[in-house]
Amino acid sequence: MSRFWSRLTHDLTPYVPGEQPRMADLVKLNTNEHPLGPSPRVLEAIRQEATDALRLYPDPLATALRAALASYHRVRPEQVFVGNGSDEVLAHTFAALLKHDAPLLFPDITYSFYPVYCRLFGIACEAVPLDQAMRVRVADYRRPAGAIIVPNPNAPTGIALSRDEIAALLDEHPDAPVVIDEAYVDFGAETAIPLVASHDNLLVVQTMSKSRALAGLRVGYAIGDAGLIEALTRVKDSFNSYPLGRPAQAGAIASLEDEAWFQQSRLAVIEGRERMNSGLEQLGFEVLPSSANFVFARHPAHDGAALATALRQRAVIVRHFTAPRISDYLRMTVGSDEQIDRLFSALSQILGRDRRAG
Ligand SMILES: *Cc1c(COP(=O)(O)O)cnc(C)c1O
Repeated sequence: MSRFWSRLTHDLTPYVPGEQPRMADLVKLNTNEHPLGPSPRVLEAIRQEATDALRLYPDPLATALRAALASYHRVRPEQVFVGNGSDEVLAHTFAALLKHDAPLLFPDITYSFYPVYCRLFGIACEAVPLDQAMRVRVADYRRPAGAIIVPNPNAPTGIALSRDEIAALLDEHPDAPVVIDEAYVDFGAETAIPLVASHDNLLVVQTMSKSRALAGLRVGYAIGDAGLIEALTRVKDSFNSYPLGRPAQAGAIASLEDEAWFQQSRLAVIEGRERMNSGLEQLGFEVLPSSANFVFARHPAHDGAALATALRQRAVIVRHFTAPRISDYLRMTVGSDEQIDRLFSALSQILGRDRRAG
């Protein structure tokens, strides 16, 4: 703390990102990174950008990338916004679209960045409890809402809503912007993008960090009605005109061009998830049905924090949250086969069994 801090800074409660430790031989299953590297075509495209042209600013509108995203998702370029990771896209969304007299609604158990943005921008918000099965229930959102944001699949539960349920949510709130954060959608949920054509209140946010193995490149985007996109652009151009560098724009385009890599690696993660599910169940865990690249599970006989600590002592890092409803759960990223083996053997040791799962 310093006497130079502004009032705003004093009052912030920043998001705490999952740690990025530098331990040797670490099994890192705490921030939902992809176990495989990105497409080789992405790496080649980024290398091609390492020229003298880096002295020049990048295209502030990311025209080529927005065109590529528009064609990939079958929308018009004016319906696409890109930013420095979807966290930045979300930040601009909160500022541009989610501050109203009635509160912003989101699930009580969800991406913990949402309340952080609310504090930063002075947005009134209200948490809507998940049901007993830890599911989002669209009917529970029938209350005064200035706006709504829901991740689909939700984080950290991994549980997805169907497109029909999202459509019902949109239809019930035609006068409120509804944001669907689809960071994990490619691992088994239905995207809401086809609903953009019929719903001018829908903004879908996606990222290249998770399913395209590009967390280090920082590329996120939003798709929605051109009026919503214009709002995001106004905020962006009041903040930073050049959020995506040349390597990021080129790498992101190359990623969209390698559909074979995308499908193959996405399916590999889904297979790994099924292996993690059954192995964890054999070890006695209750595992929520995940449509994401992580599983959220608890052991009826073991405390979540203690398990996370014991795993860490065995160089396996998972995410543990202290919020009351979920403090017994661990969120474990789907790793490579080798990482999953090491997770299972560490857990078997900790749980005092030598049964080998999977
Ligand atoms: C990971 C994640 C994001 C942000 O990802 P970026 O790397 O900033 O694109 C956004 N929303 C949810 C729910 C996430 O889990």
